Amino acid sequence: MSTPCPDTPALAAAVVGGGCAGLTLAHRLAADQNGPVAVIDPGDPRPDHIWGYWDDGGEDLALARPFGEAAWRQWAVIDHGGKTVLTSNNFWYRAISSARFENYLRATMPAVRQMRGTVAAATRHAGGYRVALADGRELRAARVFDSRPPAPPAGVLLQHFAGWQVRMDQPVFDPHTAILMDFRVSQEAGVHFIYLLPFSAENALVESTVFSPQVQPASWYDDQIATYLAAHYPTAGVTISSREAGVIPLARLRPDGVFGTAVGMRAAALRASSGYAFSQIQRQIADLTVRGGGARPGCDAIEAWMDQVLLRVLRGAPARAPEIFTRAAAALDGDAFARFMRGYGDWPGRLRLMSGLPMGLFLAAALGGAGR
Ligand SMILES: Cc1cc2nc3c(=O)[nH]c(=O)nc-3n(C[C@H](O)[C@H](O)[C@H](O)COP(=O)(O)OP(=O)(O)OC[C@H]3O[C@@H](n4cnc5c(N)ncnc54)[C@H](O)[C@@H]3O)c2cc1C
Repeated sequence: MSTPCPDTPALAAAVVGGGCAGLTLAHRLAADQNGPVAVIDPGDPRPDHIWGYWDDGGEDLALARPFGEAAWRQWAVIDHGGKTVLTSNNFWYRAISSARFENYLRATMPAVRQMRGTVAAATRHAGGYRVALADGRELRAARVFDSRPPAPPAGVLLQHFAGWQVRMDQPVFDPHTAILMDFRVSQEAGVHFIYLLPFSAENALVESTVFSPQVQPASWYDDQIATYLAAHYPTAGVTISSREAGVIPLARLRPDGVFGTAVGMRAAALRASSGYAFSQIQRQIADLTVRGGGARPGCDAIEAWMDQVLLRVLRGAPARAPEIFTRAAAALDGDAFARFMRGYGDWPGRLRLMSGLPMGLFLAAALGGAGR
């Protein structure tokens, strides 16, 4: 049976989940001073990792901007045929530490009640919600925001990766160019590339990333990174300073129910074809707190459809991935590329992208002919 928390007044807002979206939302709600706010999260460990995202200088990314580990005006896609480098005038590609950002948010919202717990239900009652926690506690709140990530459907394509932050004993990296995809690695386990963020000439995040339904054992990614570094920086010694790993579903996630208003991954912030959600979440929360209403997805319906077509192509013809991503990069300039990746891009950019891709393959996938 649920028991009301005796010391809890009715809240203006209860935020379910204290991850990227929940903490960002609570921080912004607290700044608006519209009444007491609580964030409820089980408090499981959240290992540090890097969030990469495109920043056009907008207010929606103001909270994150000071935490940049590094930022690049140039990014590259590499395959055996060469290197496509895109330069942007209006966007930075930034990297921030998830732990630094989340710790900052937690530490700078003293008015927000940060509760440990698992929300089991939220039911409407006069003037708001009753929020029931799994341990029997109950809260009352005028609004509820739900950031529980939805479970991915069975069998979806996954983006799975492991990365090392490395220090090399020689200045081997080009610190001006982030490598988004380097396909000069084994393609046996699925669409596989190295993501390399050079924080300086000696320091970088080097990540082995695969798109496939099957996650690999940790040692597999380690072998891939070690092989890559040995092949491309053969004379440099490597020291690993930290590691990160993750799995992101590459799919349109459909939640089976929502407590109040969905936010974050639960509100379709994720770009299904790339696994990017960070800047989409920041924009979604900034919009929500300014305009009210529901949370906007990470992209519009056309881009969501384009993402689905690309995923169908990758499922049906994974061996074509290096060519497809290289051609996509070559079709765009840095600004158009970043605009598309952020979501809500423009038609000229979309048309240039479409015209640069292998037409027959994408047409067949658009008509449903290249797998799921
Ligand atoms: C390792 C990794 C690296 C990533 N890198 C990038 C990147 O470089 N760029 C990018 O744009 N995106 C990236 N993403 C994708 C995305 O930005 C993150 O997944 C982001 O954390 C999603 O935010 P969220 O708030 O929606 O979900 P989460 O951050 O996962 O937060 C959800 C929270 O809800 C809590 N919760 C769940 N159920 C309940 C319940 N019943 N009651 C209360 N709380 C509950 C969970 O404990 C969790 O803390 C990455 C994801 C991962 C996993």
